[in-house]
Amino acid sequence: LLPPALDELARLLGRLRGVGQKTAQRLALQLLDSPDEYLTSLGASIVGLRVRVRRCSQCRGLTEQDPCLLCTDPRRRDDVLCVVADIPDQYAVEASAAFDGRYFVLHGLISPLDDTGPDEIDADRLVERAGGGRTAEVILALPPSPEGEATGHYLAGRLHEAGVARITRIACGVPHGVELGFVDRVSMAHALSRRHEVDK
Ligand SMILES: [Zn+2]
Repeated sequence: LLPPALDELARLLGRLRGVGQKTAQRLALQLLDSPDEYLTSLGASIVGLRVRVRRCSQCRGLTEQDPCLLCTDPRRRDDVLCVVADIPDQYAVEASAAFDGRYFVLHGLISPLDDTGPDEIDADRLVERAGGGRTAEVILALPPSPEGEATGHYLAGRLHEAGVARITRIACGVPHGVELGFVDRVSMAHALSRRHEVDK
């Protein structure tokens, strides 16, 4: 029913997670009615996204300058490292205002079913970054899922081996099944303050 150009746009939008076919069609029609200026900006923004936004070479967070602002901010502590599974989790920890150290973003969790192993989460780089006596504490702010548990267990073993003195996990005040990225800032601050040491 839709002309091919609109149909193509609707199909592309419909590939985004959480966007159903009807929503995609409605968005495509809305874009058709939008001012030229908006469409030009939107197109340029999408085209430039991957060029402008990169992973920080130190923490693997998203940034337009490398190293990122969180890695270069002199007011942040260098000797405490917070490990998160994904970008929304990093933003949740940062929004809690309860952490002033550096980050390391895994971009995933170890999951044999999804073929995700230590290489995919760059475990070697984390160990290199945290080892050598530079880091007094590594906080594992990982979700309370089986994958989060497995990843935490694996990383704690590697980090202990590398001589990191204190390895902690955030408290599971975080409700099961809720992604860390959606946890409110008070709950996250609470989970951070009640973190506990991981057994050797
Ligand atoms: Zn960084």
